[in-house]
Amino acid sequence: MNVLVINAGSSSLKYQLMNPETGDVAAKGLCERIYIDGRLTHKVGDNKVEKDIPMPTHSEAIQAVLEILVDPVDGVIKSVDEIDAVGHRVLHGGMEFSDSCIVNDDVIKAIKKCIPLGPLHNPANLMGIEACQAVMPKTPQVAVFDTAFHMTMPPKAYRYAIPTEYYENDDIRRYGFHGTSHKYIARRAAALVGKTEFKMVNCHLGNGSSMSAIKDGKCMDTTMGLSPLAGVPMGTRSGDIDACVVQFICNKYGMSVDDCLTMLNKKSGVLGLSDGLSSDFRDLEAAAGEGNEACKLALQKFYYEVAKYVGAYAAALNGIDVLTFTAGVGENGITTRQAICDYLGFMGVKIDPEKNNVRGKETLISTPDSKVQVWVIPTNEELMIAQDTAELVNAAK
Ligand code: ADP
Repeated sequence: MNVLVINAGSSSLKYQLMNPETGDVAAKGLCERIYIDGRLTHKVGDNKVEKDIPMPTHSEAIQAVLEILVDPVDGVIKSVDEIDAVGHRVLHGGMEFSDSCIVNDDVIKAIKKCIPLGPLHNPANLMGIEACQAVMPKTPQVAVFDTAFHMTMPPKAYRYAIPTEYYENDDIRRYGFHGTSHKYIARRAAALVGKTEFKMVNCHLGNGSSMSAIKDGKCMDTTMGLSPLAGVPMGTRSGDIDACVVQFICNKYGMSVDDCLTMLNKKSGVLGLSDGLSSDFRDLEAAAGEGNEACKLALQKFYYEVAKYVGAYAAALNGIDVLTFTAGVGENGITTRQAICDYLGFMGVKIDPEKNNVRGKETLISTPDSKVQVWVIPTNEELMIAQDTAELVNAAK
């Protein structure tokens, strides 16, 4: 089976043509500068092709992707009919979606209903879906929501302690994001530890970071909230912050709430704490190594907040059996993992520095006597999207 996985952003569109059973990627690429001019980067194995192609809308971008996939030289299939289904990443499923689903008119309507919750991403995700429907009307399309995995959280985890009317009238609650990644890691962890009933905390630490408390494969709590701003400090996002900080800054500097939120989303996190030096952990580690105090603090703050959430979630779950690290920093950050686990000795977490000396490979990094198994598991959101898509499309046959 061939599934085309699409992640449509406001001016870009990423794609992968993959086999959901084996995870083999036949081709992948990126359309950029949609609405501006248009640029396609297409990769088959180590071969890379770059082309300037006019992309006045997402529709031309999808068209360009399909054309290069069937191209006699750069393509990997003979006809678009060889694409059995398309899986789309959709940011916000609100309370409408607790699982992935095959796209129909009602699903489109419900995704539109969620636009106020995901105002930047959902319209772009929809454009990707509609563009595919237009150029490949007979191919089933599946929507995979970044929020869906978290819909199993109990009310005590997802409700905010504010008046009920904002929940009932406006759907204001914790939703959580990176759900596709958390779901993938929960499944891989179950396969690796060889059981389905256990308690774990997954640390998805990348440029955007979120953590989830997971029991028997189901999400019980997660750090991101109504938006991806909440939780641990990130590359450029502040993470959790007292709402009064917004009021104070807006009043003192005559800033609008929107501008203040842009500052919290784009100029904060480890970028803000490192005095604007970098949001990239490699740069921060290098600068901290040379004695830069701001970078040292940025890293210390990050380790501290991640460790605090592991402790909080261990309390929420009444203990954990497994701790997993994934995404750019989680998979590659040897120092980061060590520093976080150093906080967790009180709960019996012990990692082996030699085993921890690993990047981007499924590895058990805890010692045999550690009370908690600690794993590095590379995430694969595209594969999860392809698997969900295949499962739904096969079930509908
Ligand atoms: P995104 O949230 O954009 O998907 P990623 O999961 O790709 O982000 O993570 C990107 C981050 O991974 C970068 O900011 C970088 O700091 C970090 N990273 C990548 N490689 C390493 C490494 N070798 N050591 C430490 N951090 C790394």
